[in-house]
Amino acid sequence: MKFREKLARFMYGRYGGDQLGIFLIILNVIVIIASWFMRQTVGYYVCLFLSAALIALYIYRAFSRKRDKRSRENAVFMKIITKIKEFFVRQFNRVRYIRKYRYRKCKNCKTFLRLPRKQGRHTVRCPKCGNTFDVNIIL
Ligand SMILES: [Zn+2]
Repeated sequence: MKFREKLARFMYGRYGGDQLGIFLIILNVIVIIASWFMRQTVGYYVCLFLSAALIALYIYRAFSRKRDKRSRENAVFMKIITKIKEFFVRQFNRVRYIRKYRYRKCKNCKTFLRLPRKQGRHTVRCPKCGNTFDVNIIL
């Protein structure tokens, strides 16, 4: 049997790679680079241990036969990544539209509302859930 066939047979039914896997590899590279700056300290050994743990976790996930479970882990990871991405986009937009808009969160449904920049106290109605609340735009 050729190596490729052997590999294909070995990998059959196993989970393989996903976005969380790529993230673990990138995190591992960062940990290794960080360890270079901590030679002869406790931090160096912590980094080595962390790196080994990340590699072990990656291998465990890639060769896992519990595909549903791994897939669900990835979905949770992607949800978190999306939240982080949205946060940075929002911060970028806050600066970009600083002359025109102010951003406030609806306390009821957690939606971010883009409000026209009008100084003073206003009552705002959330278009998503209909909740009304007061906002104070100082600048
Ligand atoms: Zn709302």
